[in-house]
Amino acid sequence: MRDRVLFSFRGEEAGPTLVIVTAMHGNEPAGVEGALRLARRLESAGGVVGGEVVALVGHRAALAQGRRFLDRDLNRIWRYPPGQVATLQEGRERRDLTRTLAGILRRARGPVRVFDIHTTSGLGPPYTVVGDSDWGRITADRLPVPRVLGLARRISGTLSGWLDRQGIGNLVLEAGAHTDPASPRRTEEILRLTLSLMGIVGSKEIEVPEAEEALLRRCRHLPPLLELVHRHPVRPGDRFEMQPGYENLAPIREGEVLAHDRRGPVRSPLTGWILMPLYQLQGEDGFFVVVPARRYPEDGPLEPARRGDAFQSAGDGIA
Ligand SMILES: [Zn+2]
Repeated sequence: MRDRVLFSFRGEEAGPTLVIVTAMHGNEPAGVEGALRLARRLESAGGVVGGEVVALVGHRAALAQGRRFLDRDLNRIWRYPPGQVATLQEGRERRDLTRTLAGILRRARGPVRVFDIHTTSGLGPPYTVVGDSDWGRITADRLPVPRVLGLARRISGTLSGWLDRQGIGNLVLEAGAHTDPASPRRTEEILRLTLSLMGIVGSKEIEVPEAEEALLRRCRHLPPLLELVHRHPVRPGDRFEMQPGYENLAPIREGEVLAHDRRGPVRSPLTGWILMPLYQLQGEDGFFVVVPARRYPEDGPLEPARRGDAFQSAGDGIA
């Protein structure tokens, strides 16, 4: 089994700390690989200038088995008091992860930020899931990959939501498909940009312009800011099966048959882009629909192509 701490580089000067969390879901090893690629690059660049970068494994036990989770989804249990989940495998992972984070906070010589790295079962480009964190938004705005609003708030019990409540700036990355060989590379490119934005390492030392160019090539044609307007929940016994071939952020039309379940065809309620089509057995979300947004919600009403009311609160049961 991998250690909780994959690597850490600490600069001589004080500065911010970036904590990279990988494999909160054990079937997402691309984040681990991406972090290790970054470590090799930092190694050859002679480490970092100031502050610190630490990479952690989220769910060690599930990663060792290549499973999304063992008892309960580790990224859905952070809304419970620790005692309530203590007997779950994920409760133990959470406790150990929190202790590790506490240690990082104690030795930090500046603000601590967390980048939580995920991958999806479907193919597609990388994108950030932007929540309530100011640092997360500012950082996401400066990364050349699409940003998705409204997803973070509708999934409860996430590490990101818990970090928000602790006042720790954070951002979530969906780097691409679990199995896409490009996912570790994109993870590393985005982390390089982030480290450079934070001033933890110089842009030249880790070839930031090259990373930026590679990401732009992949994401240039996509809407830069998207808002979630629909979620299709999957319940046990639904026999939900996506139609093959849907990539993340593929355009879809109202009425298009996206999947089948025991009730028959599942159609898209509106025209937009599909997000996170479910191509694995474990999961409670069949797919999401996003539409372009022009602004953040606080700046006034969003102006999506069409707003859906079909949304149901996500992830309230832990089953
Ligand atoms: Zn994940």
